[in-house]
Amino acid sequence: MTLPAPARVNIVGAGLAGALLALLLARRGIAVTLYERRADPRQSLPERGRSINLALAARGLRALERAAVLERVRPLLIEMRGRMIHERGGTTLLQAYGQREHEVIYSVGRAELNRVLIEAATRHANVTVRFNQQCLGVNVGAQQLLFRDALQAAAYQLPLVPTIATDGAGSAVRASLATAGLLAVREEWLDHDYKELTLPPAAAGTLERHALHIWPRGGFMLIALPNTDGSFTATLFLARTGPVSFAALASAEAVQQFFAREFADALPLLPDLPAQFAAHPQGQLGTIHAAPWHIAGALLLLGDAAHAIVPFHGQGMNAAFEDCAELDALLDGADSWSELFARFEQSRRENSAAIAQMALENYLEMRDTVLDAGFLRRKALAMALERRFPDRFIPRYSMVMFHPEIPYAEARRRGTLQEQLLQELDTAAAGADSPLAERLVHARLPPLRAEAPGALRPTH
Ligand SMILES: Cc1cc2nc3c(=O)[nH]c(=O)nc-3n(C[C@H](O)[C@H](O)[C@H](O)COP(=O)(O)OP(=O)(O)OC[C@H]3O[C@@H](n4cnc5c(N)ncnc54)[C@H](O)[C@@H]3O)c2cc1C
Repeated sequence: MTLPAPARVNIVGAGLAGALLALLLARRGIAVTLYERRADPRQSLPERGRSINLALAARGLRALERAAVLERVRPLLIEMRGRMIHERGGTTLLQAYGQREHEVIYSVGRAELNRVLIEAATRHANVTVRFNQQCLGVNVGAQQLLFRDALQAAAYQLPLVPTIATDGAGSAVRASLATAGLLAVREEWLDHDYKELTLPPAAAGTLERHALHIWPRGGFMLIALPNTDGSFTATLFLARTGPVSFAALASAEAVQQFFAREFADALPLLPDLPAQFAAHPQGQLGTIHAAPWHIAGALLLLGDAAHAIVPFHGQGMNAAFEDCAELDALLDGADSWSELFARFEQSRRENSAAIAQMALENYLEMRDTVLDAGFLRRKALAMALERRFPDRFIPRYSMVMFHPEIPYAEARRRGTLQEQLLQELDTAAAGADSPLAERLVHARLPPLRAEAPGALRPTH
């Protein structure tokens, strides 16, 4: 790294990306001050109303490993080997995520993960964390960051240069830049909201722990991920208004009847459903498009602050962690913050757009097509093609979740070619071992480079 000394940076937001980035930069000898709106999570209860647990996959794991913090995170992880589909009649079916031993994803508690990352960051001599500091925005002209100290109820300013904003989907930094006309923001909100419900350990004991449970119902769905205390966190994704919607679930009876009709096997796992339903917040889901992400060498948006996405591919945090790893990698050879920030945006923009799009597409797959016979046939064919041509054909889901060496944009490009190829083989009733499959795969899918550990291992 050849940044001018002394290298010093502010990070706004000690969430998942901010805490990991602080650690990565501190390991490079950069002095980091982290400003966080919340109280110290090591001394307080987690905030309500946020996704309680998250799916962590290879991209996130790789970034945690880069910061040498993966071993501290490991005790928090619960392996999920596939989707457990719950049909209306109560039949369940496990669809494996991958076909190799290591092709699994992990459920992790947000609060615990954040706490471990903050602890690891604060253990580093180069990191200072200041809690209860709410960023109010930026004044780029005056090169100032504006803050409010929640404990003193006092506003103050700080020199800006350089600052990385990781203050999440509702970023105050991004909003103030947009107001000043320094960046353009487009927010695309879904007309579906979400609500989280807890399945207590005693009731959830019958659910398979090593799976992500899905109750797909066409226009909506319920999912559940395991927690380390034996409970599960369920999330209902449902239209905001209309005949089948959150708006239609205004009474305890309506909620009870809806669950009895749609999720009959989940109902006994939710003993206090009406009370939870009334008490828990209803969250919005959307995609944030912002451009540019950086203002010369003064400011950079990263993680959800730059590109929040819908959660249906379980990749928002993974993408934010990959942002952190990429910025760290780009420090090698960067001569100035402005060059670093520009190279970061150049490298990540196309990939962020690709995962934003794939996340939207995955909502349809999860709530609907996982039960479709054609989908299941093409999925089986995709797995068979991967076994036959492991260096050329990797199902798109696997590229995104298990192959961090394949950028998101590349996964999306190849995924489109593969989908077309699957349709053609399906229409021709040609299997993975057919000459047609060999001809199409070789003509359309150039070999992938084997980079990641275990990436192109032979199947079993
Ligand atoms: C329902 C749901 C389910 C999800 N599931 C998954 C999943 O399974 N897998 C996955 O990879 N991703 C998932 N995500 C996405 C994931 O939560 C985000 O992508 C991830 O949290 C982004 O990290 P971040 O650090 O950029 O933002 P955040 O984690 O939101 O952190 C932002 C931090 O900034 C602080 N902050 C905010 N405003 C200010 C301010 N003005 N001043 C100072 N500090 C401030 C906040 O308190 C917070 O600590 C899900 C999201 C939702 C909503």
